[in-house]
Amino acid sequence: MTSGKKKNIPGLNSVNMFDDQGPAVKTCKTCGRRIPLSMSGDLCRDCLKRELFPKVKDFINENPDVNEMVVSAQFGLDRSIVHEWIREGRLEYRK
Ligand SMILES: [Zn+2]
Repeated sequence: MTSGKKKNIPGLNSVNMFDDQGPAVKTCKTCGRRIPLSMSGDLCRDCLKRELFPKVKDFINENPDVNEMVVSAQFGLDRSIVHEWIREGRLEYRK
């Protein structure tokens, strides 16, 4: 006798309770992805990067003596993001 392969699928519907209106999250205005409230602004990290990168690049071109602290303060950008760009070689400035 081959029997007893029962699949129990837990109620998937109950997962969606806080989908769009969760009290502790907001959504990215560009892609709709959920972002933590601790992020400033209305964009997720990826969209923020995409939106700000050309501006940051222009800013550094015009002000070649700035460092990543100035850049992050200027744009309200997480310093780790600026750091990422530099490490990826997408941004460079004089040291
Ligand atoms: Zn986004």
